[in-house]
Amino acid sequence: MNTAAVTTPGAAPSQAAADPWRSHPARILRITPEVPGVRTYDLEFRDAGVRDAYRFAAGQFNMLYLPGIGEAAISISSDAAQPQVLAHTVRAVGNVTDALARLRVGDEVLLRGPYGRPWPVETLRGRHVVVVGGGLGLASQRTAICEFARHRDHYASVTILHGAKTPEGLFYTAEYAAWRAAGIEVRPAVDQGDAGWSGHVGLVTDLFADLAIDPTNAAVLCCGPDPMMTAVARAAARVGIPSGDVYVSLERNMACAVRHCGLCQFGPHFVCQDGPVFAYDSIVEFLAVPHL
Ligand SMILES: Cc1cc2nc3c(=O)[nH]c(=O)nc-3n(C[C@H](O)[C@H](O)[C@H](O)COP(=O)(O)OP(=O)(O)OC[C@H]3O[C@@H](n4cnc5c(N)ncnc54)[C@H](O)[C@@H]3O)c2cc1C
Repeated sequence: MNTAAVTTPGAAPSQAAADPWRSHPARILRITPEVPGVRTYDLEFRDAGVRDAYRFAAGQFNMLYLPGIGEAAISISSDAAQPQVLAHTVRAVGNVTDALARLRVGDEVLLRGPYGRPWPVETLRGRHVVVVGGGLGLASQRTAICEFARHRDHYASVTILHGAKTPEGLFYTAEYAAWRAAGIEVRPAVDQGDAGWSGHVGLVTDLFADLAIDPTNAAVLCCGPDPMMTAVARAAARVGIPSGDVYVSLERNMACAVRHCGLCQFGPHFVCQDGPVFAYDSIVEFLAVPHL
């Protein structure tokens, strides 16, 4: 087992580095309904020592375990500068996430992590950053957005392109005002608008045509369904952003999260540790393989 990759660039050593298999009880402090079927859970480790030692980086994920039910990989979606309270935005789609939806404030889950390679937030300084989130994809990018907002002057520009099927499917919209106040441009797009909708109707990739940035000094961080990520890389290329400057976060079913079980194997990569964030160029040939 390769545990070295658990300690990722930008992430200080955590309990995962010490024992990547060990889960710790964490209490639900707050549950925020986002959109139908999606809730954000603010979790706090019960043990003060674990809580104080825990650090994570933007784009990493935890394994949430409900004894007797199972475990699911969930992105950490809160500010890495406040690692004592860990937000996880979860769509109820199956065993673990449905059971989570039945829990209340004060209940406990078991949590291990953080795992995976983060977004390359630090290395993008000085560049135009385009964050493209499709649906729940934005959850894996919210920590990075916190960093961009805090250090906005370190980046040439920061633009969020947020896509959903309908306006009701867009979440974190309450944060748009704060992100805009920090100097981040936020452009939502929906496939189908409604009477109150004044934003873009169409694909989130349409918005690339309006980007007023130097494409030779830009990078794209994309998370969403696989076909969307391919479409985003193509849209970026059309406006002159090379595919080598596109980063994607992949979602694959996983079990151990420590490069052991092989469930998340993606070509030669293990998504749990080589990802979930990859340079698009490094995985594009495998994205083209159906069902991989
Ligand atoms: C790195 C990473 C980050 C993630 N972040 C988030 C997040 O922030 N929020 C969030 O809501 N989800 C996130 N997910 C997705 C989440 O882990 C899955 O939806 C997980 O399957 C939910 O567990 P469950 O037990 O509730 O659902 P399951 O019971 O596992 O069912 C979920 C769906 O996946 C299918 N499925 C389950 N296992 C397999 C399998 N082995 N092969 C094929 N299909 C299968 C089921 O049929 C069902 O349609 C993330 C996944 C990864 C890998």
